[in-house]
Amino acid sequence: LLRGAIVFLSDLMRAIDIPARLDFIGISSYGTGTESGAVRLVMDLETDIAGRHVLIVEDIVDTGKTLSYLIETLRARQPASLRLCALLDKPDRRQVPIDVDYVGFVIPDKFVVGYGLDYDEKYRNLPFIGVMKG
Ligand code: 5GP
Repeated sequence: LLRGAIVFLSDLMRAIDIPARLDFIGISSYGTGTESGAVRLVMDLETDIAGRHVLIVEDIVDTGKTLSYLIETLRARQPASLRLCALLDKPDRRQVPIDVDYVGFVIPDKFVVGYGLDYDEKYRNLPFIGVMKG
């Protein structure tokens, strides 16, 4: 899931040793900065996922709005299975229940940047994850 997950994805994919294909999907939330608003699809997959085993790779699950939209969209395409992997999980902020199958780290309600995660498109290139100070 673009764009924040690509740094995590590039590490994760090298740790997966079963045959796997790669594709990208872009979902944007209308809000900028630290608040996520309504979500929409801005770039679609090239792959037809019907009958395929799909693993969604996400940077962080916050309110759950992005992933609930994505899961609903992808489920309608009838994959053989659909699993979710997220590097970070902020359960305190959840508004929509989301079952994350594989979680890297559960973190407190802080806005984090780096390792692909941005603030207004900045800081994605930081080689670590840090907390934004207000
Ligand atoms: P949700 O739809 O779950 O509220 O938000 C998911 C998206 O919001 C993530 O993919 C990420 O782009 C953004 N997001 C949520 N929390 C954070 C955070 O702490 N730092 C950054 N940089 N982005 C976040």
